[in-house]
Amino acid sequence: MEAPKYIFVVGGVMSGIGKGVASSSIGAILQSKGYKTTAIKIDPYINVDAGTMNPTEHGEVFVLDDGYETDQDMGNYERFLNVDLPSINYMTTGRVYQEVIRRERNLEYKGRNVQVVPDVPQEVLRRIKEAQKTANAEVVIIEVGGTIGEYENILFLEAARMLKQELPNDVAMVMLSYVPIPSNIGEMKTKPTQHASRELNSVGLQADIILARAAVPLDLKRKEKIALFCNVRPERVISAPDVESIYDVPLNYEKDGMGDMLCDVLGLPRRASDLKEWTAFVEKVKNGSRTLDIAVVGKYFMSGEYVLSDVYISVIESIKHAAASQGVRVKLAYLDSEEYERDPSKLEELRAYHGILVPGGFGSRGVEGVVAAITYAREKKIPYFGLCYGMQLMVIEYARNVAGFTGAHTAEINKEAPHVVIDIMPEQKEKMAKGDYGGTMRLGAYPCKLHPDTVAREAYGADEVRERHRHRYEVNPDYILKLSEKGLVFSGVSPDNRLMEIAELPKSTHPFMVGTQFHPEFLSRPLRPHPLFNAFIKAAGEHTPSK
Ligand code: GLN
Repeated sequence: MEAPKYIFVVGGVMSGIGKGVASSSIGAILQSKGYKTTAIKIDPYINVDAGTMNPTEHGEVFVLDDGYETDQDMGNYERFLNVDLPSINYMTTGRVYQEVIRRERNLEYKGRNVQVVPDVPQEVLRRIKEAQKTANAEVVIIEVGGTIGEYENILFLEAARMLKQELPNDVAMVMLSYVPIPSNIGEMKTKPTQHASRELNSVGLQADIILARAAVPLDLKRKEKIALFCNVRPERVISAPDVESIYDVPLNYEKDGMGDMLCDVLGLPRRASDLKEWTAFVEKVKNGSRTLDIAVVGKYFMSGEYVLSDVYISVIESIKHAAASQGVRVKLAYLDSEEYERDPSKLEELRAYHGILVPGGFGSRGVEGVVAAITYAREKKIPYFGLCYGMQLMVIEYARNVAGFTGAHTAEINKEAPHVVIDIMPEQKEKMAKGDYGGTMRLGAYPCKLHPDTVAREAYGADEVRERHRHRYEVNPDYILKLSEKGLVFSGVSPDNRLMEIAELPKSTHPFMVGTQFHPEFLSRPLRPHPLFNAFIKAAGEHTPSK
């Protein structure tokens, strides 16, 4: 193998323009050329992981196989590269400092003065190189969070500069920028990109390729202007207009010769890319025969006036993967469960949907509204899929309204409830007593046994599966038998039979009512849709909503 190559992806002008998708797409292209590729995300905040952050702050928490709680971009990498990434591929300022301080306390710096520069960027580089080795990658993509010019990510850009100095021929810099079209002028303005490029120069870095995000494609004049002022060859200014589907992005980049360009910058032999399967998938995403309406019911996450659908990104993508594989389109509606608490008659809106999904969550806001929606789904026989909290609330609904355990609840909300059917896991109780919150949930992949003749077993076509988790509560062992006797089927259990991993209603009583204690959305991939999402979408396709 040749020396490994490193591609830094940095963002100019502003955040939220799709750096994660850009990085993932670059990875998908190089991988399709037969280069073994891995991707790293660096987040500039002090939090040691993303697990302690409110979703409104940071969108979805994506859980890796080994249990590390990370940024949603790690989910994009896994989906675009179709790989499982280990925790070494994700770092935050907090994680890096934590390691530097640990080593200092262990005298590993042998008594010398430990400095912000170069010791912190060196720890960043150590992690990047370890990730390269772990994956045995020929190409490592490193996405630096935040925007150029911010104080927060300066040490990561310094790490990039140090690596470029060490390996001048093996490091490429890609800058993703934004080219606004102010409505009063109606013309594309390149000045913010020029400023971002200058800022990048001021930390000793020069972009090799500029990806210019804009509402529409860049014209030649703007390309030439950016090239001249940002010191990049005109053909290396790539137009990245808004697209219908994020999965279009690798195809668009490749049309502009992005892969060859990167190979040229890095001194890698040019190779043809094979994006046949990807292209077929994108075609299916766009050409569904009919549209299914799926309701995602939960509490709303607002950021000022905006609803953050980012919170459920893996769920949304999983639905899209399953729909594409079945040749249908989906239209998602985010329905606020608190509305059902204020006005129960609103529940009637659910009759218009092919399927109802309740994603994971925490706390009491909107919970009674969700339970009411689950009752509706059960009684009206609308396909229902509950993920984590969505499974726990499905168990509560069944306990209250079918099994006769009036007042059944989860200890997360009411420890004194007459029937605590969802209780805290014993090992979690100890952690909570100590106030030990960070990275302490039941996290990451665990095996799950599937019982024969169940919806889940049939969907998976396997006796045992592995799925990723993120929870502190479980079905109370005291109620497993009692609920089973009343008809609730626990079709997936941990190998020691202690934890109920999947709950479902028999096919004879409901077309599809399944809840999972784990998060299947973390394992769905464009080219490998998740079996349970597939089964849910299939059931949704067979349901006729009443208008
Ligand atoms: N709040 C629940 C628990 O901790 C569910 C968590 C989730 O949905 N991720 O068990």
